[in-house]
Amino acid sequence: MVNGGFDPWQAMLERLRDAFDLVGADEYVRSVLSVPRRSLEVSVPVRMDDGHVEVFKGWRVHHDTSRGPAKGGLRFHPLLNVDELAALAAAMTLKCAIVDLPFGGGKGGVRCDPTKLSDGELERLTRRFAYEISWLLGPDSDVPAPDVNTDERVMGWLMDTLSMIKGGNIPGSVTGKPLALGGMPLHAGATSGGVVTCLRAVLAELGIGLTGSRAVIQGFGKVGAPLAYLLASAGMRVVAVADVAGAVYNPGGLDPSQLAAHVAEHGTVAGFKGGQSIGTEEFWSVESEVAVPAALEGAIDTEAAKVIQAKVVIEAANGPTTLSGDAVLESRGVVVVPDILANAGGVTASYLEWVQARQGYAWEQRVAAERLRSKMDLAFREVWAKADRLKISLRRAAYVLGVERVTEALLARGLFP
Ligand code: NAD
Repeated sequence: MVNGGFDPWQAMLERLRDAFDLVGADEYVRSVLSVPRRSLEVSVPVRMDDGHVEVFKGWRVHHDTSRGPAKGGLRFHPLLNVDELAALAAAMTLKCAIVDLPFGGGKGGVRCDPTKLSDGELERLTRRFAYEISWLLGPDSDVPAPDVNTDERVMGWLMDTLSMIKGGNIPGSVTGKPLALGGMPLHAGATSGGVVTCLRAVLAELGIGLTGSRAVIQGFGKVGAPLAYLLASAGMRVVAVADVAGAVYNPGGLDPSQLAAHVAEHGTVAGFKGGQSIGTEEFWSVESEVAVPAALEGAIDTEAAKVIQAKVVIEAANGPTTLSGDAVLESRGVVVVPDILANAGGVTASYLEWVQARQGYAWEQRVAAERLRSKMDLAFREVWAKADRLKISLRRAAYVLGVERVTEALLARGLFP
């Protein structure tokens, strides 16, 4: 069990089983998709600044690769474990299928607390970890991207390490790279941009106006911070934001730019003068139309689900709602846009970056932005239509669509040997 009793792998298996039943999957498909295809555990020895060597543990997990190379982020976190990564890798398999990308699902990372590492230690850890998992990585086999506590700088080190090993530049081996190495300007805001595309679509379906609606956002990192800005720019009021160290509230709307400046200076939203401090336990009960988990797994448990005031929960984070939390939200009539749809903008932008790296030709940004928006919009429409036709929740419909597409690829390839 991890994260206060929430076991993401068991939750994934339960949701997969439900989808298998809904699509009438055969035993072969059920058994293959109920285990990760491979899971590599590595030791990562790092020379620390004081001269001693510390050995960290890291993993790279592939769930299913029938549709293409494994795609998924790398995270650095002190509580990281392989079951969590397996669940996240399986979510990537389904997510890539839902947005119809030619990728399978992967995830990886190192169990460490990056806030306690110097820049030099972080770089040595990244490079040694990249080396240890390098025989899985490559543009045709496994393409990592940033995730919790990793960023474009880490991706730059990763790409450079892989290029050094090969003795030639391999820009298609990593996405979310610095612009100077072939990254895309829109990558940084792509996940939050995709969340906004889904939010616009779901609010339109429910007849709720976006302008003037209120949102609460948990998490103010690479996803939550740009999302707050995009929502405010679209005319919404972001009335509460929480992060790991505290929460702030302003019924008139928090100013996302000022909040970002405060976080840049203090490392947390706590103490922001443009709002009042509230306890993190009060956060989910703040009145709003939209609630956005954009932090870690298991955030919306039964207790949070009981007090959420919003009509729509849009899952920017991966795996933020527990099974029991989901049941409570459904019984209360709250519409949940699931993670494997809502936050697929990030991996879609990664796909566009990977294609350009392989072509060796950078598109105009407006071309990339339009392709990103239209892919997210189509995925939302397909999931919405399936939910409507089968009379099931958007989450169950998204799992069904994902499982159907992965099954098609599995069966088309056949079983080796
Ligand atoms: P990040 O590390 O940049 O930010 C995480 C944020 O969550 C920080 O503000 C942190 O303070 C907050 N947080 C952590 N623990 C918390 C807690 N217990 N309570 C409240 N807040 C807490 O990470 P990120 O890249 O923004 O990722 C956030 C989520 O979105 C993750 O689930 C990640 O897998 C998912 N996601 C990220 C991307 C991406 O492009 N970065 C894409 C798809 C999905």
